[in-house]
Amino acid sequence: MAAMASAGSSTPFTGTSAGTQAPWKRAAVGANLLSPSGDLGVTIFEEMTTLAVSTGAINLGQGFPDEDGPAEIKAAAQAAIAAGANQYAPGKGVAALREAVSAHQQRFYGLAPDPENEVLVTTGATEAIAAALLAFVQPGDEVLTFEPFYDSYGAVIGLAGATHVTAPLLAPDFMPDLATLEESFSSRTKIVLLNNPHNPTGAVFPESVLSRIVELAAKYGAIILSDEVYEHLTFGVPHIPVTTLPGAAERTITISSAGKTFSFTGWKIGWLSGPADLVASVRTVKQFLTYSSGTPFQGAIAVGLGLPDQFYTGIAETLRHKRDILAEGLRAAGFSVYNPSGTYFINVDTSPLGIRDSVDLARRLPGLVGVAAIPVPVFCHADGAERTRSLLRFAFCKKVDVLEEAAGRLATLKDRL
Ligand code: PMP
Ligand code: GLN
Repeated sequence: MAAMASAGSSTPFTGTSAGTQAPWKRAAVGANLLSPSGDLGVTIFEEMTTLAVSTGAINLGQGFPDEDGPAEIKAAAQAAIAAGANQYAPGKGVAALREAVSAHQQRFYGLAPDPENEVLVTTGATEAIAAALLAFVQPGDEVLTFEPFYDSYGAVIGLAGATHVTAPLLAPDFMPDLATLEESFSSRTKIVLLNNPHNPTGAVFPESVLSRIVELAAKYGAIILSDEVYEHLTFGVPHIPVTTLPGAAERTITISSAGKTFSFTGWKIGWLSGPADLVASVRTVKQFLTYSSGTPFQGAIAVGLGLPDQFYTGIAETLRHKRDILAEGLRAAGFSVYNPSGTYFINVDTSPLGIRDSVDLARRLPGLVGVAAIPVPVFCHADGAERTRSLLRFAFCKKVDVLEEAAGRLATLKDRL
C-alpha cells in the first residue's frame, strides 16, 4: 500500500531531485512509490489489480480490455510462431512492422517516416518513453509534463536524475492555462513529454494548445516526446499528432503502442517515429535495454496496422458507447462526472458523495461495492495531489454487461458510506 500511502499521506511528496539517492530510489520517488517513512510500493495499477483480484471486485482500475483484439491479428501471431519466427527480431524491429508504422502515419496523418531510419519498434510504449528519456536527459536537465502524469514518466525522469517540472491540467476540461504555460519552461527544459490523448484525464488537446507547446519548445530548444498511445481512441474530436504542426517535426518523437489500438496490452509492442538523428539516439539506448522483443507479435501487429479504416472508426464508436454507459452509471451513483474526449478513462469527483479523499476511497471501494478504480492524486506531485484530492479514475474498456454490473454496484455506494 506504499504507493497510496505516499500520495495520500499528509507529508507532501517532494518531486524528483537527483541528490545522492540510489537510482532505483529516484525511480520510486518519481512515481510516488516510496512513502516518507520508507515503505516501498508497486505501481498503482498493480496494487489496485491485486486488490481487485483478492476481493473479487470488477476491475475498472488498471486500463486493459477484457476482450481480445481482432482475430486476424491473433491468427497472424499464431501462424508466425508455427512458421518459426521465434528468434531475435532485428534491433530496430521487423521490417514489416516498421513499414506498416510508416504506412499508418501516411494514411492517417500524411506523414512519411522512413521505415529504415525514422521508425523504431520498442517493447511497448513504456520502453519507448524510457529509452528516449534516458537518451536525452541528464542531471540538471528539466523534463516538463502536464499534471496529472502517467506514472512511468516520473519514474524514468527520476532514474535519469533529471528534474520533473509539471504544468497543471485544470478541471473541468483538463486543459493547461496557455497564459501561464511559459512559466513552466526554462533554459534547462530538455524535453516536453506530452501525452495526447491524455491519461488519466481523457483530455484531447486542440491545435491551439499543441501549437503553443511547439512554440515554447522551439523557443527553449526542447525536444517534444509525444506519447500518443490513445491516438485512435477519441470521441467526436480529431486527434492531431503534434509533429504535424509547423515547426514541430524536427524536434518531435511520436510514440504509440499496439496495446491500446488493438487490445493486446500483454504483447508489449510499441514504436516511435521521428527525425533520423533523434531516432538513432533513442535506438542506441533501446538496444541495451531489451535489444528487441516479440518477433511473432511484431509481424502480427503489422497486419493489424493494415486493417481498413472501418476497424479504427469501429473501436472509437464501441468505446464511446461504453463511455456513455459508465458515465451514466457514475452520475446515477452520485459522482460528478468529467466526460472524456479520448482514452478509455473517465474521471469523477467524489465530493458530491461527501468523500474528500479518493486515495482512501480507492482502497475501500472494492470492499464496499466490489469495484476497483484508480485515485488521480497518485499521478501528481504534492500541489497537484491536493488539487485532485477527490478525483477517481474508472476504465471503461470492459464488456457492456460488466460496465452495467459495475454501475449497479456503484449505485449502492451512497448507502454504504
Ligand atoms: N503511455 C500511456 C499514457 C499509457 O496509458 C500507457 C499504458 N498503457 C503506456 C504509455 C504504456 O504502454 P505500453 O503498454 O505499450 O507499454
Ligand atoms: N496504462 C494503463 C493504465 O493507465 C496501465 C499500464 C500499467 O499497468 N503499467 O491503466
